[in-house]
Amino acid sequence: MTGTGGIDLHTHSTASDGTLNPQDVVTAAAAAELAVVALTDHDTTAGWTAAATARPAGLTLIRGAEISCRWYGAEPSVPLHMLGYLFDPTDERLAAELDRVRAARTVRGERIVDMLRADGVDVSWTEVLGYAAGGSVGRPHIAQALIRAGLVASTDEAFAAHWLGERYRLPKVDIDVFTAVRLVRDAGGVAVFAHPRATRRGQVVPDSLIVELAAAGLAGLEADHTDHTPAERAHVRRLAAELDLVVTGSSDFHGAHKTVALGAHTTDVAAYDRLVGAAWGVPPL
Ligand code: AMP
Ligand code: FE
Ligand code: FE
Ligand code: ZN
Repeated sequence: MTGTGGIDLHTHSTASDGTLNPQDVVTAAAAAELAVVALTDHDTTAGWTAAATARPAGLTLIRGAEISCRWYGAEPSVPLHMLGYLFDPTDERLAAELDRVRAARTVRGERIVDMLRADGVDVSWTEVLGYAAGGSVGRPHIAQALIRAGLVASTDEAFAAHWLGERYRLPKVDIDVFTAVRLVRDAGGVAVFAHPRATRRGQVVPDSLIVELAAAGLAGLEADHTDHTPAERAHVRRLAAELDLVVTGSSDFHGAHKTVALGAHTTDVAAYDRLVGAAWGVPPL
């Protein structure tokens, strides 16, 4: 690894629901004096090339994705996010799953817009597609339309229960979490469970699932994340220690769609080295 700054292993660009393009994410990461940044857009590797090309000298780029997963061991099933790093993006099975999930995001986004319009809300699918600009469509893009229409003042407000948080929410099509871990591993990558204990985002999975995922090849747990309370971070650290999993910290930077800054939380060098050492799909750049 290079540089002396922090290691931020979770960021989003315009390839999904971030507001900076991939070039600007790496430029901003260098300006924030990070040593390492991982680009982890939702269900896509579309930003990898632009980020790699624009990477400033002295910044290490980890190519990754945040994969929409689901655990079917509870009723109702529980959605969760798996960070995949350093996997081969040409692996056919993984790429096909990401394609399927992205296509379903588009269908779901249009349905949410239809629901809003049926209630007389002045937003359009063309407009939302424009905000997504060819990237993975997500609720933050619909939030942008609600802001433009003057109905809410911020993305956060758009996620309130009477908007996208509940009333106008539809489930995503996700990948079975065990399948996702296996696909990431088979493609030479490593898998880290994103914000695994974030109760403020909704239902969380039991520790027993994390025990099973560890046995299935999960490499790490993201502990330091804005959506975790101090108690939740401590819980995740304890569990990681018990299961010999790597502990990470990261910003989950989304540009202007969230208030968190690049490098707000970081990962220590030993944890980073363990993750990189376990991967063989694509190298850090
Ligand atoms: P989706 O992927 O379409 O289900 O939308 C969820 C995305 O919206 C997540 O990636 C978050 O980054 C973002 N998000 C969730 N809750 C909020 C919130 N309260 N404020 C801003 N962004 C949020
Ligand atoms: Fe997001
Ligand atoms: Fe996430
Ligand atoms: Zn994220």
